[in-house]
Amino acid sequence: MTYAEEIEKLRKELTEHNYRYYVLDDPTVDDFTYDAMMRRLIQLEQEHPELGSEASPTQHVGGEAVKGFAQVEHEVPLESLNDVFSDDEMLAFGRRVEEDGAEGVYTVEPKIDGLSMALIYENGVFTKGATRGDGRVGEDVTANLKTIRSIPLRIENAPPKLIVRGEVFMPLKVFERLNAAREINGEKLFANPRNAAAGTMRQLDPKVTAARGLDIIIFNVQYAEGMSFETHSGSLEWLRERRFKVIDHSVCTGIEQCVRRIAEIGEQRDRYEFGIDGAVVKLDRIADRERLGSTAKAPRWAAAYKYPPEIKTSRVTDIVVQVGRTGVLTPKAVVEPVRLAGTTVTNATLHNQDFISEKDIRIGDTVRIRKAGEIIPEVLDVVVSERPKDGTKPFFLPDFCPVCGAPVSRDEDGAAVRCTSAECPAQLLRNIVHFASKDAMDIDGLGLSLAKALTDSGLISSAADLYYLAADDVAALDRMGAKSAENLINAIGRSKKAGMARLVYALGIRQVGQSAAGTLAETFGSVAALSEAGEERLQEIEDIGPVTAKYITEWFDSPQSRHLLRRLEEAGVSMEHERRAGGDSRFEGMTFVLTGTLSAMTRSQAEALIKDRGGKVASSVSKKTGIVVAGENAGSKLDKAQSLGIRIINEEEFAEMLE
Ligand code: AMP
Repeated sequence: MTYAEEIEKLRKELTEHNYRYYVLDDPTVDDFTYDAMMRRLIQLEQEHPELGSEASPTQHVGGEAVKGFAQVEHEVPLESLNDVFSDDEMLAFGRRVEEDGAEGVYTVEPKIDGLSMALIYENGVFTKGATRGDGRVGEDVTANLKTIRSIPLRIENAPPKLIVRGEVFMPLKVFERLNAAREINGEKLFANPRNAAAGTMRQLDPKVTAARGLDIIIFNVQYAEGMSFETHSGSLEWLRERRFKVIDHSVCTGIEQCVRRIAEIGEQRDRYEFGIDGAVVKLDRIADRERLGSTAKAPRWAAAYKYPPEIKTSRVTDIVVQVGRTGVLTPKAVVEPVRLAGTTVTNATLHNQDFISEKDIRIGDTVRIRKAGEIIPEVLDVVVSERPKDGTKPFFLPDFCPVCGAPVSRDEDGAAVRCTSAECPAQLLRNIVHFASKDAMDIDGLGLSLAKALTDSGLISSAADLYYLAADDVAALDRMGAKSAENLINAIGRSKKAGMARLVYALGIRQVGQSAAGTLAETFGSVAALSEAGEERLQEIEDIGPVTAKYITEWFDSPQSRHLLRRLEEAGVSMEHERRAGGDSRFEGMTFVLTGTLSAMTRSQAEALIKDRGGKVASSVSKKTGIVVAGENAGSKLDKAQSLGIRIINEEEFAEMLE
């Protein structure tokens, strides 16, 4: 087989696998085989760029980062929809269009709560995709759309030009996973799947988008050159044959049948992989649509039914406390099972103590429940008329963490109550991920999945345990092995010298970020001195306000913290700050830029070495740059440095300067 033939074969097979997996949900190959084929194709395409790759499945991996999103004028506007809020309004819509002479055959579709997109195909190849924007002008997000694997990059038997419209969404499962990971990494949570999808579509780096697992469902043919369809449902079938992932649609005769179908979709909401915010009723016959046309805002031939947020009542049988990964104690009402928006609900959040007190919610009460953002059940209020004469019991959050028994503390700036222990099992995973992160102890390779394996297996129950790990135990973990275990142990060993500033940041004391940790290290010089400083002394320091001072003292006063520090110290973790003052300041006033890969150290290690010697590190080359350190495969920064005539050194010369 020639290379060209092998490439062709791989493209065909991978396209087929994508279709089976992402559109039909019926894969015929395991992930390992798929990945191996993909890697091989990427390699072949890199070696033979002359064979092109415009519609190759490798495009889904995510190309070069973009600088921004160009504007795109939509050839066919992406219209909005008129909303209706009741069955009566929907029936009136039907009467209106039928009086206008429409046939009375409709399609009913779930209304996906996502982002509307136009996808353009030229001669069967996906060439451009744009957001809806204001309906007339949107933004070119082709690079991000290409990462969505259910989008066919090439279609068979296509007209010369085809424009389709669909809704990009983040599947609910993906959304939950993403937010859980963000919580552990201390990142801001997305409010709902729609926001998450929107944020992801605005990523400048398509590789980030590719990793987020967005999906798209197509719900309209906007334009098909030289073709016409008799019905909307017919056009959807035509799209399905071309292997698009197409909206689930029922053809209904008469508006009454539509209303019944809408109720059914509402009942079955939880069966969809995406959030829905309504159901859309559309005239099926295209000729009717064309005759009725549109108002300035929306077509006259369609109406979107918005489901009211479902509210049910149930009795609170107990109130329990959950400790989240950030240590926040959340009271939850245990309720008698009740069906709500498609799922059986057995508990509902009560948010916090203030909420409970304000609404006077007691065990034994009947409460109203709804799903916030369509997902998380929450208690709204008490149905006071149903309160039993006696037998209700008020509830108060405990003073001690129900998971580890440590005292709790109330946030100064809000209603949240948190466990104060540095070793609370509920917070362990998050603490470990933070402790090991790049800006903290910088333990290479210890990310979320490994931290999870270590905590789940019980090998560690605090950050200090990392320093007592045996290589054999680590090697026995799933997906590890002797070599990776050794690498991990070495990386952990190296982190002992991270220094006080990084350590203090790694401890995860509330409101103590990198910069405050640096100031504390500079000011006190040792963890011992810091731990004895006391609130008053801390407040004298610039950048440390009274709230942070309180959090710091509370943290050091807790027995769990002292235990953690003692064990870290015994393991040989450095508790001192190496002051530069009077020491090494040979790079004072110099700005470095790092580019390419260094063989002896990571980028952040190199940065630390420069900063330790008084130098600055910038992320891009400018006239102010003093020296560019160029490692392997240095890129555009090197070119720029050359054109500006800036001094460039290689890794060897850099090592000499550090000596
Ligand atoms: P609105 O923004 O509330 O006017 O609703 C119109 C939006 O609903 C459109 O921009 C589409 O993105 C979205 N939508 C979701 N699912 C569908 C569907 N099945 N048919 C038409 N529009 C849909």
